[in-house]
Amino acid sequence: REGRRPLIAGNWKMHMTHLEAIGLVQKVVFSLKEEELEAAEVVVLPPFTALRSVQTLVAGDKLDIGYGAQDLSAQDSGAYTGEVSGAMLSALACGYVTVGHSERRALHAEDDAVVAAKVQAAVRHGLVPILCVGEGLDVRRAGEHVAHCTRQLDAALEGFTAEQVAAPGGAFVIAYEPVWAIGTGEVATPEDAQEVCGALRARLAERFGGETGLGVRILYGGSVKAANTAGILAGADIDGALVGGASLDADEFAQICRIAA
Ligand code: PEP
Repeated sequence: REGRRPLIAGNWKMHMTHLEAIGLVQKVVFSLKEEELEAAEVVVLPPFTALRSVQTLVAGDKLDIGYGAQDLSAQDSGAYTGEVSGAMLSALACGYVTVGHSERRALHAEDDAVVAAKVQAAVRHGLVPILCVGEGLDVRRAGEHVAHCTRQLDAALEGFTAEQVAAPGGAFVIAYEPVWAIGTGEVATPEDAQEVCGALRARLAERFGGETGLGVRILYGGSVKAANTAGILAGADIDGALVGGASLDADEFAQICRIAA
């Protein structure tokens, strides 16, 4: 993987109160060995309401685990009732924020322009965006999946420089999440996942230079479980996984992290 540290990120979606979150994080971390947590980066993405509890736990117990949010506002402050800004997430010492998850794109009408503005907001506030791209079933059946995902990537990275995209520590993470595989139990084949992840890396290299292309971590997401993790991670351009449902089960999630380590 050319020195790219594997990353396993757990997208909890709208699950876990702040109290449940503490229990889940503790269970995951305490079931992993120190060397496993060093070899693979483990990140949890709880709902906003649990972030403060996770921050306190991680900082207080010096847990070797990262955390972040599932979304942020494109705006920095103002009359945007119900929104949460990048500055607020930064103040909670979040490292990451998911942007452009297919559930946000579909259920909250986030188009490429909104996603691009949110990526800008994340970077403005020192958060690493986990930019999600992925095609629906109709697009895949039409054989347009690579072009579709590349277009989403291009739109979200508009205006960024190579330095911003691959800053030390990894300024950007890309997650390829075919919509038809999210929460459906239908995982992409390792070949399908590698095809798109490889194409995304090639596109990054084309736009920002080969070194940047090699520096960015690209994840696969869509019904990842411990049983299919090794196959997916065998792809040369797949540096980890964005895990939804299976991240709510501490044993299953820890096992996925162990396989990635
Ligand atoms: C996700 O929500 O990003 C996801 C990949 O979900 P699941 O693993 O449940 O398919």
